[in-house]
Amino acid sequence: MLELRPNCEWCDCDLPPASDQARICSYECTYCATCVETVLHNVCPTCGGGFVPRPIRPVGAEGNQKNLGLANRPASTERQHSPWSRAEVDAVSASLRDVPPAKR
Ligand SMILES: [Zn+2]
Ligand SMILES: [Zn+2]
Repeated sequence: MLELRPNCEWCDCDLPPASDQARICSYECTYCATCVETVLHNVCPTCGGGFVPRPIRPVGAEGNQKNLGLANRPASTERQHSPWSRAEVDAVSASLRDVPPAKR
């Protein structure tokens, strides 16, 4: 289950569960759309993978399974921060940004 992390690991802006600006890699590293486009260039500095929009978890459990939704499965409140320096981010990005995620 996705943790739905609360912030961008680079600029620390808030990314609440309903945000359409949250982007995640396959390991759930979480950044805002602006940082993915302008800083990371669709390269996760941790794993080298690409990013996709994070799905929005519904508030209520309106599906067939009644123990879901944010009320039952709340978002994480633990803010995460990238351990990488700008130079480290830039180096990985420069080496992979021109390679499509499916070819990395
Ligand atoms: Zn950001
Ligand atoms: Zn990653």
